[in-house]
Amino acid sequence: MTDIIELLPDHVANQIAAGEVVQRPASVVKELLENAIDAGADAITLVIKDAGKTLVQVIDNGKGMTVTDARLCFERHATSKIKSADDLFNLHTKGFRGEALASIAAIAHVELKTRTEAAEVGTAITIEGSEVVSQEVVVTPKGTTISVKNLFYNIPARRNFLKSNTVETRHIIDEFHRVALAHPQVAFIMLNNGADVFNLAASNLRQRIVNIFGTKTNEKLVPVEEETEILKVSGFVLKPEFAKKSRGEQFFFVNHRFIKSSYLHHAVKSAFEGLLKEGTNPGYFLLLEVDTHSIDINIHPTKTEIKFDDEHAIYAMLRATVKHSLGQFSIAPVLDFNK
Ligand code: ADP
Ligand code: MG
Repeated sequence: MTDIIELLPDHVANQIAAGEVVQRPASVVKELLENAIDAGADAITLVIKDAGKTLVQVIDNGKGMTVTDARLCFERHATSKIKSADDLFNLHTKGFRGEALASIAAIAHVELKTRTEAAEVGTAITIEGSEVVSQEVVVTPKGTTISVKNLFYNIPARRNFLKSNTVETRHIIDEFHRVALAHPQVAFIMLNNGADVFNLAASNLRQRIVNIFGTKTNEKLVPVEEETEILKVSGFVLKPEFAKKSRGEQFFFVNHRFIKSSYLHHAVKSAFEGLLKEGTNPGYFLLLEVDTHSIDINIHPTKTEIKFDDEHAIYAMLRATVKHSLGQFSIAPVLDFNK
């Protein structure tokens, strides 16, 4: 029998890998915003056209890239953020896989412009289907602009699978909210088809929440603050009367990364025991800070799930802290709702 195994060419491997990282335009938004944060930007602009199907562009004023890095960043497993597997447990950046740009470049037309502080001129690179089609020296401000055009142009099945512009824009705004709430000290602008959607000045968490969700939100917020050896919690829960039937304003950030956790949700919900109407869920914006060694982030490609070493202790402390905060605001359970 003849040998039948072949190594897939890079561009095919990249396309396949891209399926995990990039499901829709919102995935591109998430990856690019996180790269801008990791680059230390304090002002970030997101521009989208046609719900990101035609264009997702992120402009940052972060540290930029050298000419060599500007080429390398599109390679798979090319990252400046970790050097060894041990670094995964001492992670202070959003990224670490070095896969996002390689994946995006395999399934879209990508333009990069970037300049470091030290360089007088910057680099512009255009990529199509993982191939560099042009590279130039350009005059550009310090920082990085990445434009991702015509997502899934070479995978018609994926492109057809995208939902309506309304739905895809909703997903993008969700990602934008998550990053903007995790980093209130960073200024953000979002433009959709040329119109201003958000213009958020650098501020604190309370102000950021109000700027995103409206001035009425301010009176709904109950501050939460506690610090123990294993966990520091801060942020806000919404007063119980603003609990909703649908899953609404519910945000957990662990070490400034948005995460989904039905376990932690349950901890918060149980702290509201006796305060909620049946079938409703409380809203919250909670920042959890833990030792980087006590969590594992590398369990899901989109990194929205994490594993805590001591899940039970975190649950108990979160529950007690929220309960205490509600108590301080004299929001204690009443047994007879008619009184
Ligand atoms: P990761 O973020 O996991 O390292 P990416 O594919 O998202 O992987 O990015 C690859 C590398 O490109 C990053 O490690 C970083 O060095 C560089 N890079 C990406 N985006 C930016 C940016 N906006 N500013 C500066 N450097 C960037
Ligand atoms: Mg990244």
